[in-house]
Amino acid sequence: MGYNFPEEEKNILKFWEENKIFEKLREKNRGKERWSFLDGPITANNPMGVHHAWGRTYKDLLQRYFAMKGYEQRYQNGFDCQGLWVEVEVEKELGFKTKKDIELYGIDKFVNLCKERVLKYSKIQTEQSKRLGQWMNWENSYYTMSEENNYAIWHFLKKCWELGYLYKGRDSVPWCPRCGTAISQHEILTEEYKEIIHDSVYFKLPLEGRKDEFLLVWTTTPWTLPANIAVAVDEKLDYSLVEFRKEKYWIAKELIEKVFSSYAKGYEGGKEDFKVVKTVKGAKLVGLKYSFAFDNLERVKEVALRSAQGKQDLFHTVIATDEQIMPISVEDGTGMVHTAVSAGEEDFKLGKKLGLPLIEVIDEAAVYLDGLGEFSGKNAKKDPKIILDYLQNNGNWIFKIEKYKHRYPTCWRCKTELVWRVVDEWYISMEKLREPLKNIVEKIHWIPEFGKDRELDWLKNMHDWLISKKRYWGLALPIFECKECGNFEVIGSKEELKKRAIEGFDEFEGNTPHRPWVDNIKIKCRGVIKDPNSKKDKKCKAVVSRIKDVGTPWLDAGIVPFSTMKYFSDKPYWKKWFPAEMVCESFPGQFKNWFYSLLVMSAVLEETEPMKTIFGYASVRDEKGEEMHKSKGNAIWLDDAVEKVGADAIRWFYMLQNPAENANFGYKNISEVQKKILTLYNIYSFFETYVKKEEIDSSAEIEIQKLENILDKWIVSKIHHLINIVEFNLDKYNISKAVLAIEDFFINDLSLWYVRRSRKRFHEESEDRNSAVHVLYYVLLNTAKVISPVMPFFAEKMYQDIRNETMPESIHLFDWPKIKENQTDLDLEQKMDEVRNIVTLALAQRAAKAIKVRQPLSSLKVNNQKYKVLEEEFLNVIKEEINVKEVLFDGNIKEDVELDLNITEELREEGKKREAVRFGNDLRKEGGYKPGDQVSLLSTAEVFSDKEVLKDLRVNKFTKISKKEEIPDNYVIKEIKIEEGKPDFIAILKNK
Ligand SMILES: [Zn+2]
Ligand SMILES: [Zn+2]
Repeated sequence: MGYNFPEEEKNILKFWEENKIFEKLREKNRGKERWSFLDGPITANNPMGVHHAWGRTYKDLLQRYFAMKGYEQRYQNGFDCQGLWVEVEVEKELGFKTKKDIELYGIDKFVNLCKERVLKYSKIQTEQSKRLGQWMNWENSYYTMSEENNYAIWHFLKKCWELGYLYKGRDSVPWCPRCGTAISQHEILTEEYKEIIHDSVYFKLPLEGRKDEFLLVWTTTPWTLPANIAVAVDEKLDYSLVEFRKEKYWIAKELIEKVFSSYAKGYEGGKEDFKVVKTVKGAKLVGLKYSFAFDNLERVKEVALRSAQGKQDLFHTVIATDEQIMPISVEDGTGMVHTAVSAGEEDFKLGKKLGLPLIEVIDEAAVYLDGLGEFSGKNAKKDPKIILDYLQNNGNWIFKIEKYKHRYPTCWRCKTELVWRVVDEWYISMEKLREPLKNIVEKIHWIPEFGKDRELDWLKNMHDWLISKKRYWGLALPIFECKECGNFEVIGSKEELKKRAIEGFDEFEGNTPHRPWVDNIKIKCRGVIKDPNSKKDKKCKAVVSRIKDVGTPWLDAGIVPFSTMKYFSDKPYWKKWFPAEMVCESFPGQFKNWFYSLLVMSAVLEETEPMKTIFGYASVRDEKGEEMHKSKGNAIWLDDAVEKVGADAIRWFYMLQNPAENANFGYKNISEVQKKILTLYNIYSFFETYVKKEEIDSSAEIEIQKLENILDKWIVSKIHHLINIVEFNLDKYNISKAVLAIEDFFINDLSLWYVRRSRKRFHEESEDRNSAVHVLYYVLLNTAKVISPVMPFFAEKMYQDIRNETMPESIHLFDWPKIKENQTDLDLEQKMDEVRNIVTLALAQRAAKAIKVRQPLSSLKVNNQKYKVLEEEFLNVIKEEINVKEVLFDGNIKEDVELDLNITEELREEGKKREAVRFGNDLRKEGGYKPGDQVSLLSTAEVFSDKEVLKDLRVNKFTKISKKEEIPDNYVIKEIKIEEGKPDFIAILKNK
């Protein structure tokens, strides 16, 4: 490989740094029109993987491009700092298993370690990004853990509270028993559902007052059975009583077969009988009472007793489901649904509607609470067998146990299987925000287009936003809730906190607004207590602490259009930069997370869209299209990749991808990209070899109209066209289209046609040579400009190699080239396309008859019904390219083109000479001669005595020999075949 990507890139990094090129670029655009980019913060928690390079390259490319177009920019990178991501890693480092470990260790020390981790990895990520070629004002990166960011969210939450959106809700929520926190609906992405096999159990509940009659019920989560309150049926569904082994079971009619077939006669292995006794509608069963295995446990007894004393006793009763809340399926199970109000979302909702009691059974680590007999203190998820064993050993409860494979949600952070718990959490109500949010989504330009529908779909279905987490490292929710009167307040700023604090502020001062420091501040309650004996309500005035919860990290990232753009400290500045032109992020997940939080916060604070365009891209997979995982061993760290193949190739690879589809990253794909880049490199090398820097007049203008050579005119028109196409597409963020056009240009037009056809022109002094030098220089300079946002290193390297002292010191200090309207020539381009088509067809005819291109032929006929008659200068290109004497346009041929394949004696002789010249030239190179050098030549072949051949090969002394043995030792020798049959030899003196 002629170009060492990683090495060259390191040199260029040094060059940029030493010469402050980025600073000079910013200086150049200072005070000009703005292009406002808003960076989505990267979690500063690990070194970057190769997948991070995709988005970073988009961001860098666009910023570089708009800088070339003269726009001032902020160049602010963001780091996401707070939240479970970081906590879990620090816990791992410390070997912690539970939240208790953290509290024993000390929340302050723990939080400080989280901060340190963020600082450590933000530094590493900064260095990695620089190595990737990303230009940012790194010293000015924003950190979501900053005071500014945290207090900005306080402001937002206060506004939510004032608008009445913020509330405390008690609900059954998905819960991670390891992290000890609720996982909001927003955080459970499809990829967090894993295929898991659980023991499912069919159990039987004896009905009160009906001997040997049971409800047959099924569950895939046996750990929830002690929480059983009721059994739900569908009133309209048919249920049958089935007699089997002298007992009778109620089951949905449609499911009888499925459940009993394995026992029944006529089925494989089965020999028993079962019999349907009767069938009724579900409604007939509603109200029946049953007993269960856990009725002796204290917690269960208490609830049963309280329920019996209440208005309606629905404990252990068959109830009618509400289809809207909990539809009953006849795909699986028995159609009789175990309802554990405390341990399921639907169960809880149904319970709320029907007024069912609930039994809480597990704590935040999924450990059974006290009052549950032998289960108390045991972990519901870690010891799933205990419930099944109990059912087996304490009576006749089990009908059968079956392995069951299903998609089950896991924690997005630690992959632990989730459970459901009824807890108090804080929510932002979406009721009044849903419609405004939809309107904002409509105003935004979404790339890919389907992004809009996905976001709308999410907004349609989303629940209220659960924003609290019972954790440590995160935004301290500024909610102060009074235990006396139930009133709660939200504090909106540090100043307000200071004003309201009656205790603890002095100790807090000087610390960041995080736990535990902020936890000790107390304020006075402003709630009122209704006094039935007096007309005047009493003021509460209790001393109130902050709730202990922290906020979801999506609040941290959602506020950045405000916090990082000085919404609070410098409104004129904010107005200049808001809304952002665009954000650019990998879309899986972001519709529910970052995009969503940006929209919500902007809707609440300013009722408008925070960005004009949302540019999303898919995920990075491995070479085979499989997900990359550290544990699978197919993940690639960015450092390794850059060290191995260089940043430019990675960048080019990513920019070729369709952002709507996953990108399969692998070194094989990258080496394909490198090969393409090397095509371009070879053209620069060719130019450097044949042209001295002094020959270049960088100030000279190029005008198509003043050029003589048709190839020169054509390539200049082509590069101008390319510049326009790339600009058109980049303006619309059609990045892959722009990059594909560039690639097509330098491979198919520049390398395969222009340079190949012009090679000879560079060899000898002439007017035509000057034109070729001038044109190729101009094309290469402009190619470097158009590739510079995509491959900043390679562009710089190419530029430095052809640059002279009068020119800007870096390719990145050029403006985007402006093309005058008369400087493209479509007619010319179309004619050259025709030339290339004709050439391709003619060469195919030669190939079919195995006639070498070096063998001249007399004529080519071109069908003038199909092709426009071309001018002389185009015909000359065709003649040279396919080696014919004449090109004729003719209306009487059947094919597109027709080559005269008759080789006359004269043509054959000429062919031999051409062949001889080619062999001679190869040998000159082997012998170590430069193009202009004279050589002495020996050969057994007669053809070399031809004057033209000798002149072409710059031979000053030719000796005809009769056999190989006559060649002295200090000659390079080649065996050749000029004619059919006998081999010949040529030799030239080795050059010392
Ligand atoms: Zn977890
Ligand atoms: Zn109060």
